[in-house]
Amino acid sequence: KNLSSSEIRQMYLDFFKSKGHTIEPSASLIPVDDPSLLWINSGVATMKKYFDGSVVPDNPRLTSSQKSIRTNDIENVGKTARHHTLFEMLGNFSVGDYFKDEAITWAWELLTSEEWFGWDPEKLYMTVYPEDQDAKKAWEKVGVAPDHIIEAEDNFWDIGEGPSGPDSEIFYDRGEAFNDLAEDDPENYPGGENQRYLEVWNIVFSQFNHEPDGSYKPLPRKNIDTGMGLERVVSVFQNAKTNFETDLFMPMIEETESLSGTVKYGQDPKLDVSFKVIADHSRAITFAIGDGALPSNEGRGYIIRRLIRRAVVNGQKLGIQGPFLYKLVAVVGKVMQAYYPEVLEQSDYIAKIVKSEEDRFNETLVDGLRLLNNLIDETKQDKTYLINGEDAFKLYDTYGFPVELTKEYTEDEGIKVDEDGFKVEMEKQRDRARKARGNKKAMGLQNDLLVDVKVPSQYVGYNQLTVDDTQVK
Ligand code: ATP
Ligand code: MG
Ligand code: MG
Ligand code: MG
Repeated sequence: KNLSSSEIRQMYLDFFKSKGHTIEPSASLIPVDDPSLLWINSGVATMKKYFDGSVVPDNPRLTSSQKSIRTNDIENVGKTARHHTLFEMLGNFSVGDYFKDEAITWAWELLTSEEWFGWDPEKLYMTVYPEDQDAKKAWEKVGVAPDHIIEAEDNFWDIGEGPSGPDSEIFYDRGEAFNDLAEDDPENYPGGENQRYLEVWNIVFSQFNHEPDGSYKPLPRKNIDTGMGLERVVSVFQNAKTNFETDLFMPMIEETESLSGTVKYGQDPKLDVSFKVIADHSRAITFAIGDGALPSNEGRGYIIRRLIRRAVVNGQKLGIQGPFLYKLVAVVGKVMQAYYPEVLEQSDYIAKIVKSEEDRFNETLVDGLRLLNNLIDETKQDKTYLINGEDAFKLYDTYGFPVELTKEYTEDEGIKVDEDGFKVEMEKQRDRARKARGNKKAMGLQNDLLVDVKVPSQYVGYNQLTVDDTQVK
C-alpha cells in the first residue's frame, strides 16, 4: 500500500477507535508533575496517572500518537536506520480493561488485514518473555507460525517508576538486501548491526508498578500499553532504506541539500550521516522549543543546546556557512502540520530561538574547531590518541563544545576523550562558583547588618546569572 505518514498515523488511530478507544491528543514533551523523567519518552509516560489509579479516565481504552524524545538514542541517530531523538509513538492502552488476548488479536488484525496495514504475515516475527507462555499461545491462536515466535529474556518493559511487565515485540523482516546492507557498509551501520529485522511494535502487558523504592508491586488491575514507532512503520510502507528516505524526513534533507549547494544526499555515506543528524535534530529542537523548553546549560535545555550544536557542526561538514538550522524550523512545521498545526503557527518564534543559539555558537565555532583540530594533530603526533580533561573542558567552557560533541568529533579519528578528567574540571568550576556564592552571601549578610536592607540587589543579580534557566519560558 502506498500511504503517506499522515494516513498511516490516522489509520492506526482509526483502527483502535473502531475497537472502542478514545483518541488522546499528543501531550507536551515536558512531563507534568513527574520529576523522574526529563522528557516524555513514550506514550505510556503520559498515562501513568491512569495506570497508578490517581486519575480515572472517562474511557479505559485509549489510543494516541505521542511525540517522544529519547536522549539515550542521540548517538544512534544517523548511524542506525531506525533511531531518532524525537519520534512519534503510536499506542493503544487498556486501563484495567482488556488484556493479552484482545491486545494480540487486534495487533494481528491491524498488521495483516487487507483493510488495514495489509502486511504479509510471513514477514512478521514476534518475541515473547520466556515465562510468558500465555503470550506465546495467544500469538499461535491468531495464526502466527511457531517458528515466527521467539523467546527472549529481555522482553520486560521498565521505564523506571511506573507501570511495567513482560512484553512482546513485533519485528518486520525487511529482506535479505538488508543483511548485506549491514555487512557491506559497517561504517554506516556500526558493529555490522543487523538492520534486517526491524522492531516496529512493543506490546506491554503491564501488571506491576515499579515503585520509587525500586520494588515491583502487582497492580490491582492488569493493563495494556503498546508503542509502535511511526517513522519505522512509514519506512516499511514507503519501502525506504532507512527511516530517513520517507515523507517525514526528505523535505528537511532536500532543504539541507540546497543550503549546502555542493553536497547531495546519497553521494557519500559519511556525509549522509550529517544530513540525517540535521534532519532529525531539526525536528527535536523545533518540537522541544515549541513545547516551552529553551537552550541552556542544564537539564532539558542542555539537551537542546547539544542537539543544536551537533547539527551545526554537521552543517559545517556539508560546507554550510553561517546560521542555517533555523531555516528548517518552518519545513518541520509544514511536514508535521496535519497532526501538529501548532508547530507551524509558532515557527517564527521557534526559529528566532534557534537562530540566536546558532549565532552564539558560531561566534566561537571556528576558533573552537581550530583548537580541536590542533589537539587532534598533536595527540596523533605524540601517539597518545587522547584529548585530556583540561582541553575538553576548555573546548566546553570557552568554545561552547558539549563534551559529547568533542567525543563524537574525535571518535572518527580514532581518538578518545578523557571524560573523567573533564568531570574533574567541571567539578572544580562548580567549586569555584560555590565559593563565589559563599563570599557573596557573607557580603550580603554584612550588608544586611550594616544597612538593614533585606534583599541586597547584587544578590538578585547573582541568582540571575547562575540559576538553572531551563524553566524560563
Ligand atoms: P530499539 O531496540 O530499536 O532501540 P526499543 O526496544 O528501545 O527500540 P521500545 O522502548 O520498545 O523501543 O519502544 C517502542 C517502539 O518505539 C519501538 O518498537 C520502536 O518502534 C519505537 N522506538 C523506540 N525508540 C525509538 C527511537 N529512538 N526512534 C524511533 N523509534 C523508536
Ligand atoms: Mg532502544
Ligand atoms: Mg528493542
Ligand atoms: Mg522494544
